[in-house]
Amino acid sequence: MPDRYAVIGNPVAHSKSPQIHAEFAHQTGQDLAYERLLAPTDAFIATANAFRAGGGRGLNVTLPFKGEAFRYAGRLSESARAAQAVNTLKFEGDATVGDNTDGAGLVNDLERNLGRAVAGARVLLLGAGGAARGVIRPLIERQPAQLVIANRTLAKAQLLAQSFRGGIEASAYAALAGRQFDLVVNATSASLTGELPPLPPGVFARGALAYDMMYGMDETPFLAFARAEGTATLADGLGMLVEQAAESFFIWRGVRPDTAPVLKLLRQATA
Ligand code: NDP
Repeated sequence: MPDRYAVIGNPVAHSKSPQIHAEFAHQTGQDLAYERLLAPTDAFIATANAFRAGGGRGLNVTLPFKGEAFRYAGRLSESARAAQAVNTLKFEGDATVGDNTDGAGLVNDLERNLGRAVAGARVLLLGAGGAARGVIRPLIERQPAQLVIANRTLAKAQLLAQSFRGGIEASAYAALAGRQFDLVVNATSASLTGELPPLPPGVFARGALAYDMMYGMDETPFLAFARAEGTATLADGLGMLVEQAAESFFIWRGVRPDTAPVLKLLRQATA
C-alpha cells in the first residue's frame, strides 16, 4: 500500500494538487497516493480524523479550512504561527504537525522562477486577509527596502502590520499616490470577482514585477492594469502553487522535487 496524502477543502474538485504531487512522486520515485478530500464545511475535524484513521500520512489544507487546521494541529511550525493558518498537516504517530508553505512558495517563485530578489526591493503587498498574512514573514526575512501593506479596510492592514516586528507600513490605497514599488503583489481576492484593487496610477517603478496570487485566469484586472501602466513583467500565482506544494512534499517525504518541469507541464495544460 502506498502512503496516502490528500488535499482537503470545500470546494476541492478544481484543485491541481493531486496532479502536482503525482508528478513529484513520479520524478523522485516516492511511492505515494494523493487524492482530493471534500469535507462538509462543518466537518473538517471529522473528515481529517477519518482520513488519518484510514492510514493517511498528511494533508494539504485549502479554503475554507486553513484556520481550522491551525487549531487542529498539536504542534506548529514558526511559519504556521506567523501565518495563523496551516496549509500542510503531517501525521507522525500520535502527533499532528501543522506548517504553512504558502509564504515560502511565493518567495521561491519570485527568486528561483522569476529571478527577482526581494532583498533591497520596495515591496507593496495588496490585501490583509489570510493570503497576505501567510507571506509576510518570509518577505521580511529577505530584508526588503520597504514593505507596505495596502488594504481597502485600512484598520485590517494596520493590525496586520503591528502584529509583525520589522518596520512594516500600512497604507490606504489613495495614500500610495506618488510612491513607486519594485514588486507589487496582489494578495486580495478581487481578481476572483473580476475587480481591480483601487490602486492609483504610477505605483509600478521602472522594471517592476506585478504578481497576482490568483491563477487560472487569462489575465486578471490587476495584471491588465499593470500592463496598461507599462509594466513589462507580469506573473500569476501558478508558480507559487507549485512551489508551496514542493515545500509540503519536502516536509512529508524529506525529498525536494524539481519544480520547473511540473510548472512547465501545468502552463502547457492551461495554455
Ligand atoms: P481573504 O478573504 O482572507 O481576504 C481577502 C482580501 O481581499 C481582503 O484584504 C479584502 O479587503 C481584499 N479585497 C477583496 N475584494 C477586494 C476589492 N474589490 N478591492 C480591494 N480589495 C479587495 O482571502 P485570502 O487572503 O484567503 O485569498 C486572497 C487570494 O489569494 C485568493 O484569490 C486566493 O486564490 C489567492 N491565493 C493563492 C495562493 C497560491 O498558491 N497561488 C495561495 C493562497 C491564496 P477588505 O479587508 O477590505 O475586505
